Amino acid sequence: MTVGSMETAALFDAGKKGRGLRATRELKTGEVVFAEPTFSAVVFDSFFTQVCHSCFRRQANLHRCGQCKFAHYCDRTCQTACWDEHKQECGAIRKLGKAPSENIRLAARVLWRMHKITGVATDSQLISVEQLEDHVADMPQEDLKQLETDVQTFMKYWSYGRKQHSVEFISHIFGIIKCNGFTMSDQRGLQAVGVGLFPNLCLVNHDCWPNCTVILNHGSQTALSSALHSQRRIELRALRKIDENEELTVSYVDFLNLATDRQSKLKKHFYFDCTCEHCTQHISDDLMSAAADSKPSADKVKEVTAFSKECLEKIESARIDGNYEEVLKLCRECLKMQDNVLADTHLYKLRVLSVISEVLSYLHSFSEAAAYARRMVEGYKKLYHPNNAQLGTAIMRAGVTLWHAGQIEEGHGMICKAYGILMITHGPNHAITKDLEAMRTQTEIELKLFKQNQLMYHDMRDAALKKEPKAEESK
Ligand SMILES: [Zn+2]
Ligand SMILES: [Zn+2]
Ligand SMILES: [Zn+2]
Repeated sequence: MTVGSMETAALFDAGKKGRGLRATRELKTGEVVFAEPTFSAVVFDSFFTQVCHSCFRRQANLHRCGQCKFAHYCDRTCQTACWDEHKQECGAIRKLGKAPSENIRLAARVLWRMHKITGVATDSQLISVEQLEDHVADMPQEDLKQLETDVQTFMKYWSYGRKQHSVEFISHIFGIIKCNGFTMSDQRGLQAVGVGLFPNLCLVNHDCWPNCTVILNHGSQTALSSALHSQRRIELRALRKIDENEELTVSYVDFLNLATDRQSKLKKHFYFDCTCEHCTQHISDDLMSAAADSKPSADKVKEVTAFSKECLEKIESARIDGNYEEVLKLCRECLKMQDNVLADTHLYKLRVLSVISEVLSYLHSFSEAAAYARRMVEGYKKLYHPNNAQLGTAIMRAGVTLWHAGQIEEGHGMICKAYGILMITHGPNHAITKDLEAMRTQTEIELKLFKQNQLMYHDMRDAALKKEPKAEESK
């Protein structure tokens, strides 16, 4: 089964979880366990004109491929770097007259790549793509129906004088993509813009309280060599010290869900039952559904919980419509209902706080946004692992909001705190960490000036006070 080797990780039999990866030596917090380039990746249909099809950066004024008019690139270097991947796709799109959906495009890219290199891209790839799990046998009827439609569309796209494959094999590839596809974000980590396949990463099993995290690195656009310029790759990074032989894990879902909700999400999307310690022991479930300290009645808690759930759905749809006034109105109403009934770590309260602080800062109402952001961060800190990437980015957002609200000292403190987390989860070369570093320097300067001004003010006041009695003496 093993087709390559890695210095830090090795395949092993993880019991009922199937295959897994374990550390072959002790790993330090923040260490890159491994970096892996994509085997194949595509930009989502909805972003095809806004995101570079080579490096996945989102930016304005992309250049489009003169032949298929579908692929878009930052510049010549990105286009050249991607040509190998795009060449056959370009022909197929022209032949079909339009680009098929993202799933179909990814399956075709995977197959083109497999034909060229028999499924193994580098020496350190531990498994060939066709050996990955497809879970087709576990899929419910509706998923199978979708799969069938995808295979049919695929055949039309592919039927262009190429090697033909059986329906079973194409279904296998679609199954692999469905349960192993990794969602790729833009360079700021703010928006999901595509999906890719990383064979080694697929071997890392899930745990709701993992010891590793995955981030996407988009390469460096200032690099002249195309290998560094547009090389998109993931990095698996250690969230804490990992012992030799310990299994490496990542989380496929956000921890901020009750154990049963995490389990059903995992079952639906990845077809397995999570039996991690946090799920089986329901760790933090109590905090995430806690009532306020004022001990409201059970009925009241039930009523407000139901109200919040409904309200959050309304908030979400108002947000999708871009009706921010309505979002704010609903959030305020919901927080008022939750006050003294739900605890500050209650999931529904945290969700409202997250939306209201984000929308208010988008509308430049920074002072009000800062108050909500602070409460959100306090709740998150009690629930997330201290080195969780979502916690880091939430503290960053809160820090920036506080800074814009003129609360420089606290804002600077949060920016430093976020920087510390992101140095572990994203590393020093990631675009977000670099942004944070610039903000840390900027807020530090502003804080110094602010303190100097305060000192100067005190000095002047002291001097003025000292002068006054003297003036009186001379009278
Ligand atoms: Zn690019
Ligand atoms: Zn093209
Ligand atoms: Zn779990």
